[in-house]
Amino acid sequence: MQEHPLPQANKPLTISMHPSDNVAIVANDGGLPAGTVLSTGLVLKDKVPQGHKVALVDLAADAPVLRYGIPIGYALKDIPAGSWVHERLLHMPDARELDNLPISTIKPAAQPPLEGYTFEGYRNADGSVGTRNILAITQTVQCVAGVTDFAVQRIKAELLTKFPNVDDVVALDHTYGCGVAIDAPGAEIPIRTLRNISLNPNFGGEVMMVSLGCEKLQPERLLPPGSIPISDERQAGVTAGTDLGFDNVCLQDEAHVGFMSMVESIMRQAETHLQRLNKRRRETVPASELVVGVQCGGSDAFSGVTANPAVGYCTDLLVRAGASVMFSETTEVRDGIDQLTSRASTPEVAEAMIREMAWYDAYLQRGKVDRSANTTPGNKKGGLSNIVEKAMGSIVKSGSAPITCVLSPGEKLKQKGLTYAATPASDFICGTLQLAAGMNLHVFTTGRGTPYGLAECPVIKVATRSDLARRWHDLMDINAGSIADGSKTIEDVGWEMFKLMLEVASGRKKTWAEHWKLHNALVLFNPAPVT
Ligand code: CA
Repeated sequence: MQEHPLPQANKPLTISMHPSDNVAIVANDGGLPAGTVLSTGLVLKDKVPQGHKVALVDLAADAPVLRYGIPIGYALKDIPAGSWVHERLLHMPDARELDNLPISTIKPAAQPPLEGYTFEGYRNADGSVGTRNILAITQTVQCVAGVTDFAVQRIKAELLTKFPNVDDVVALDHTYGCGVAIDAPGAEIPIRTLRNISLNPNFGGEVMMVSLGCEKLQPERLLPPGSIPISDERQAGVTAGTDLGFDNVCLQDEAHVGFMSMVESIMRQAETHLQRLNKRRRETVPASELVVGVQCGGSDAFSGVTANPAVGYCTDLLVRAGASVMFSETTEVRDGIDQLTSRASTPEVAEAMIREMAWYDAYLQRGKVDRSANTTPGNKKGGLSNIVEKAMGSIVKSGSAPITCVLSPGEKLKQKGLTYAATPASDFICGTLQLAAGMNLHVFTTGRGTPYGLAECPVIKVATRSDLARRWHDLMDINAGSIADGSKTIEDVGWEMFKLMLEVASGRKKTWAEHWKLHNALVLFNPAPVT
């Protein structure tokens, strides 16, 4: 769905991010050989792979190595100008303490509102707007997943064609629900995540559940009375005799004799929900109804140069349009905490952010690791030496608007504007928690390449490099590599992203992940013990 330009002539190209940087990254596909003369006259002493750093000046042992204008590490020995500065030559700085942080010191000038942009969405009874029309089947416990999946296959084969306005049927499979310390500190996170995912705007308030009967997470604990905002029509349609306020098929119910009885109960319930979902129609709504979760995965040194800055520009456009944008990934913003607390709109927002970071520091400490456990072999191969460098490139997805709200993991979005939704950086867990917050559109940047997708919500994937966009031409929706090769600006790609979002949200375009039905599992964040 996207044209990717051919590579430009292989003239040496390096990119630095800040005037004080003493390293730059090599942008050329395939890297640059030793002996290459850069435009500044500097001669490369080593072969430098694409995305990796070259020393612009002689760096003495213990000197700070500056990228994004901050020390991403300290030289372990003398590094002459023109050398490849790889991770084994760097010593990582300690994480910044969480006290004495700058609080709400930056007051960005108010940006003019962006008006007149709309999309075609599904308005729900609670006022939220969906971008897809999906029947989701909530489950209390993993025990029922096989039966539910069996029923879903039959629903797709035998029922879905009768309801052409419904896009899909999705079983909300998960590994929680029993064999867990359900009252332990932290257990509220997976429970509220499951609750809030059931209420995602793409599911139209049509909550139906499959439970087992003996599990720890009972239906009324998962969805307590009053937690589902529903229309009168739906209320009237809830099966008589249930006091839950929503439809539930309990597999251990004595009425079920044999497996097929369970499957047919689920199918019968599903049909009544499909009938109501089928009546939903798209209507024109303002762009302010978008709830966008931004994330990166399989990052490389270009993530922070091309794709993430373009996402940051688009984040600013969305905030100007009155939309909701969430950025997340705690271990990837931890090293930029001072940038975030200074951008918090109020001291309360900054304090909430510090509280989330402190909670996560303690969580990692329990496992005897720290934020440096985040970086992967692929990140390092892609040129990212450590978590500090990765964090500086990750945080730019948040753009420049004031941060006005903070969510704990699994909480539902509280307001429009820019929200820090605290989640682990793990792609599947972050996506799951952003779905729980109410995300109706996901933007995902990748440099190494990941075929990530979700069944519950469209995922727009952005390649950081043209080489990846060309090889994965039928997986990547946007090529931000055009920024590195000079054919487009950050602003160009940011606007391209914004406009593609409106097309995808309207259902006029499908993302590649939707086209191929690439669906990653929901993965819950459960910091509490299992039993
Ligand atoms: Ca991630």
